[in-house]
Amino acid sequence: EPPQRLAKVLAAAGVASRRSSEELIFQGKVTVNGSVCNTPQTRVDPAKDIIYVNGGRLAKKLPPKVYFALNKPKGYICSAGEKETKSALSLLDDFMKTWTKRNPGTPKPRLFTVGRLDVNTTGLIIVTNDGEFANQISHPSSNLSKEYIASISGAVSKRQLIAISEGAVVEGVHCTPDLVELLSRQPDIPRARLRIVVHEGRNHEVRELVKNAGLQMHSLKRVRIGAFRLPTDLG
Ligand code: URA
Repeated sequence: EPPQRLAKVLAAAGVASRRSSEELIFQGKVTVNGSVCNTPQTRVDPAKDIIYVNGGRLAKKLPPKVYFALNKPKGYICSAGEKETKSALSLLDDFMKTWTKRNPGTPKPRLFTVGRLDVNTTGLIIVTNDGEFANQISHPSSNLSKEYIASISGAVSKRQLIAISEGAVVEGVHCTPDLVELLSRQPDIPRARLRIVVHEGRNHEVRELVKNAGLQMHSLKRVRIGAFRLPTDLG
C-alpha cells in the first residue's frame, strides 16, 4: 500500500469522519512515530508508521470496506440509538459479534447508515463504513432517486394526486417528486397505495408531500435507492 494522507487513514480506520479526523490532528491529539503531527496531509503508512490517537494505538491493518442493504422494521432509528430507542445498526449486532472469529486480526468496521429513514418508515437502508461512498449517495447533487410506497388512510382523489405531484416546501426548499402513481384502490380496505419517487432526500419529505395534499399517511416504506432495490419478497 502506498503512503496515504493521515486524515484519510484515520477516517478509514473508523476513528471519525474525515473532517473530525482533521480536527483531532489540528488539536495535537495525533502522534506519528513518537511526535505530534499537526498536518492532516502528512503521508503515512499504517503498516509501518506507529500512529496514536488520543493515546490509543491505531491498528496496523485497516478494516475492510463493508456494505449492507437492510430492510428496516418500524420502531428503529437510523442513528446511534439512546436508552429507549433501538438503532437500525443493532440489527447487525449478531453478525458483528462473530466478526473477529471470521476475520482474525482485522479491525472491526465502524458502521453507520447512509442517510436516514424516520422511525416509523420501513424499508431499504444502506449500512457501511465507507464514508466517501455514503457522501456520494446521500449528497443532494447525486440526484439519486428514492422510491417509496405510501399507504394512505382513505381514498385519494385526482385533485390530491395532482397536489402531491406539484410538490411542497420541505426545510425551506420547494421539492417536487419525480413520479407519483396511484397503485391500488382496495375496495374493501379504505386505503390507497401510492408510488412516490423523490431525489432531494430531505427530512420527512414524502410525509410532507402527502400531508400537504390533505392526506393522512398510514404507513411508508422505501423500496429503492438509485439502482438498489429491496427484494420484492421482503414484506
Ligand atoms: N420521507 C419521509 O417522509 N420519511 C422518510 O423516512 C423518508 C423520506
